Amino acid sequence: MDLLKEGYDPADSIVQGVKIVEDDPTDESVGYGGLPNADGVVELDACVMYGPTHKTGAVASIRNIKNPAQVALLVLRRTDHCLLVGEGAYRFAISHGFKHEDLLTEHARREWMNWRENMSHDDDWLNDDERDATVGKTWDALPWQSAPTRDTTPRTNDGPNIREKQEKPADTPVEGGQPKKTASRPYIMEVTGTIHCSALTAKGDIASCTTTSGLNWKIPGRVGDSPIIGAGNYCDNDIGAAGSTGRGEANIVTLASARIVDWMGAGQTPEEACRNMCKYVCDHMKEKRLWKTEGDKRTPTFDLKFYALRKDGLFGGASLWNGGEMAVCDAAGARAIKMAYLFERK
Ligand code: ASP
Repeated sequence: MDLLKEGYDPADSIVQGVKIVEDDPTDESVGYGGLPNADGVVELDACVMYGPTHKTGAVASIRNIKNPAQVALLVLRRTDHCLLVGEGAYRFAISHGFKHEDLLTEHARREWMNWRENMSHDDDWLNDDERDATVGKTWDALPWQSAPTRDTTPRTNDGPNIREKQEKPADTPVEGGQPKKTASRPYIMEVTGTIHCSALTAKGDIASCTTTSGLNWKIPGRVGDSPIIGAGNYCDNDIGAAGSTGRGEANIVTLASARIVDWMGAGQTPEEACRNMCKYVCDHMKEKRLWKTEGDKRTPTFDLKFYALRKDGLFGGASLWNGGEMAVCDAAGARAIKMAYLFERK
């Protein structure tokens, strides 16, 4: 907001805004510190859409570059293309002076190793309950060592987990550096994160951006909704902008952001359009595994959040599950507002 007030372009302002979180090693869902893919490699997705020219730039599955939203903005400004992926996106970034950096923090590496080891009893990695206790303390209890498998640092992501295949086991107490034996359950919970940020200038120009490290433990090369224009991000300078976080696959098959912008164009308020999009997603999710049925109650096993901003400055959001909040900043100052929702979790 400070940059916008100083006359910076809305696209540059939002990209600098999300950079704060991309640079933050304690955030597990965006940029540096994001949880890695199944191979332990951080792969990032981002896109920017620019209302004044109705142009977009995006990068997907980019590795070793901390600020994918900035690279996406360069794709928008310096190329004739919309989306660069993987190696090509990386080389494009390096050519523009971005630094090659290791994005896997120690915390994220431990979380990944914890997942890897506890994934299955049928592989060669020993689960917590398969390891024999040692007779003395192990080296990882030494004050200058970091524990190789366990990390009890609280999660920094705010959303409910988008796919509850199994609940995370209670953190295993550590005695003498060895995890205690517990009934082992696979630790395969997925973490949501992602930032969508839209800005509207006093003159009525709009830009929007979404950046993420995607789903943790994803299959290498998996691309979510964030860099897909119309899915995780969309804007139309005559109407407004919309974006999404949560289960990208549900968003890609419904092209939620473009639909929300269209619905605002047809007269719905931002909150109505986001709420109706939640219903639309549920109506179109036919895969049984994505639903939990208890009696006659059917609830999705994932979450999605939608954020929308209209050209006249009205904003709103909605999520499948309760508890969602979105950050806004206008003449009334910066604040968090509660989002509408469809399902209530006690
Ligand atoms: N939408 C992101 C993706 O599917 C994930 C998230 O928002 O957490 O990649």
